[in-house]
Amino acid sequence: MTFTLHVDGARWRAHTGRVLAGTPGLVPVVKGNGYGFGCGLLAAEAARLGVDVVAVGQADEIGAVRSAYAGDVLVLTPLDPRVPSTAPAGSDDTVIWTVATMGGLKAAAGRRVVVELLTSMLRFGFSDAELAAVAEQLPAARVEGYAVHLPLAGDPRARAAEVDSAIAKLAGAGLTQTSRRTTLWVSHLTEAELADASARHRGLDLRARIGTRLWLEDPAAVQARAAVLAVHPVRRGQRYGYWQRRATRSGHLVVAGAGTSHGIALTAPTPAVGLGQRVKTAGTGGLEALGQALSPFRVAGRRRWFAEPPHMQVSMIWLPEGVGAPSVGSELDVDVRMTTATFDRVVVSA
Ligand SMILES: *Cc1c(COP(=O)(O)O)cnc(C)c1O
Repeated sequence: MTFTLHVDGARWRAHTGRVLAGTPGLVPVVKGNGYGFGCGLLAAEAARLGVDVVAVGQADEIGAVRSAYAGDVLVLTPLDPRVPSTAPAGSDDTVIWTVATMGGLKAAAGRRVVVELLTSMLRFGFSDAELAAVAEQLPAARVEGYAVHLPLAGDPRARAAEVDSAIAKLAGAGLTQTSRRTTLWVSHLTEAELADASARHRGLDLRARIGTRLWLEDPAAVQARAAVLAVHPVRRGQRYGYWQRRATRSGHLVVAGAGTSHGIALTAPTPAVGLGQRVKTAGTGGLEALGQALSPFRVAGRRRWFAEPPHMQVSMIWLPEGVGAPSVGSELDVDVRMTTATFDRVVVSA
């Protein structure tokens, strides 16, 4: 329990509340490491936000959200009978399956499905040529709408054009009717792009699947901290660590409670979306030339060098003479990427 994510609850919830208010049809994405917070905590937040559906990445994550969230769950990775791990376990009717292949569509007979169209992402989806065959199969399916997953980069006009072209293709294949509203599940459209798309297509209900922008956009709402477990004075020339390196000058070794199992990498991670701007990478001079790496741990406001590569649950950090050593039991701020960090606990302040 030495690596902790501290969440300023009021601030974090003010942000998620703003995203909810600005995004009609919001579908919170709860997957992977739960964006650092954990899937259970995010599922509880989704329940608090009052949304009617959340999205998980994979079928085996349904259980992780279930204990905290009772609404519908959309699975983003397409169901494909060639990939047994994508197959549904049980017959829970609150689950909506994504399908992106004919095999998947057939295997999902009797289940609620979202039909994904291939975009310039080239990740998952039916090609244009396959849409006619999808239309033939539809009477057997319970279609909850269509989906497009857009790239993050690119000109907003190209993104808008991709949404328009998806809608035109659906109409061309006879998958939409002007007399009926159509639900389009989208990823990575901004609030302005969502509003524009709704205005251009009056018969469309947009469902925006959002993870990063919902959970992580306010950098000041979260801070990772590692407990200081030990501090040792070191003389110039003294050996230390697994590799018995010699100290090139005197200073302190700080043993901090976060290591590789928490996602602490040898190379300082790229700052998380939002966490980033506070990070001013210190000069990469002498120590790097000696094969050392700048750590994500901060002491006295600056990131410090690893004394050696991080261990499983601790890291040894080098503090040069003249920098006040932290006390055992205090916590160091750590600049981590939230989507690769694994915390021992998450503390949400009221
Ligand atoms: C993960 C995922 C999202 C959410 O992505 P963020 O960048 O975290 O908002 C949306 N759509 C799909 C299909 C995804 O796999």
